[in-house]
Amino acid sequence: MNKPSDQATNIAKNITQIQKNIALFCQTYGRRAEDVQLLAVSKTKPASDIQAAFEAGQAQFGENYLQEALDKIKQLQALPIEWHFIGAIQSNKTRELAENFSWVHSVDRLKIARRLSAQRPPSLAALNICLQINISQEDSKSGINLDQLDSLVDEISTLHGIKLRGLMAIPEKACGLNAQRAIFAKMQQAMNKYPQMDTLSMGMSADMEAAIAEGSTLLRIGTAIFGARNIT
Ligand SMILES: *Cc1c(COP(=O)(O)O)cnc(C)c1O
Repeated sequence: MNKPSDQATNIAKNITQIQKNIALFCQTYGRRAEDVQLLAVSKTKPASDIQAAFEAGQAQFGENYLQEALDKIKQLQALPIEWHFIGAIQSNKTRELAENFSWVHSVDRLKIARRLSAQRPPSLAALNICLQINISQEDSKSGINLDQLDSLVDEISTLHGIKLRGLMAIPEKACGLNAQRAIFAKMQQAMNKYPQMDTLSMGMSADMEAAIAEGSTLLRIGTAIFGARNIT
């Protein structure tokens, strides 16, 4: 057997540590650890890093940039990886999303949902989607405002080929646990209005405790697994 590279060893250690932290935070906040999934965000990282994480037991990966993601999906097609798209969506690229991913977290308009619905191959299970909420109401961020949510949920619920699983947010950077919790709490309240949803996609490397405290069911963690990114 080849000796694992230092990077592969670090990735495996990081995943073990994060799983321990998830278990600990779940205990602190009265959550069940099995209700919080870890999505490894591998944007800008090579396929070899993903393979190392997979060998350490991580099977769900999130990517932001479509072409980069498609290249890695192809390179790693022998592995039973579940691919999640978490980046900005161009409407002329929805077919590749519908054909290659299990989840899309960043749906932010009806047009995108309609295209994903029409383009999901019938041979595949329904595409899981989350609606991205602009929870901190920043002009620079994509995502819908909470007051648009009701009508969008109604329309999306009628579409075949896609399954509305929940809500996703990338909040503005907040300092301190309480400030982070206050933002995530708004997401939890919003989701609680929709019993058909089961997924709250929130929490990144810097705010995972707050996200677990406020009901996250899916953490999107990049830096804490793979190390800092050189490029965004
Ligand atoms: C990059 C990214 C992450 C991971 O962020 P880290 O701070 O590296 O953990 C999570 N979600 C989205 C949407 C991202 O673009």
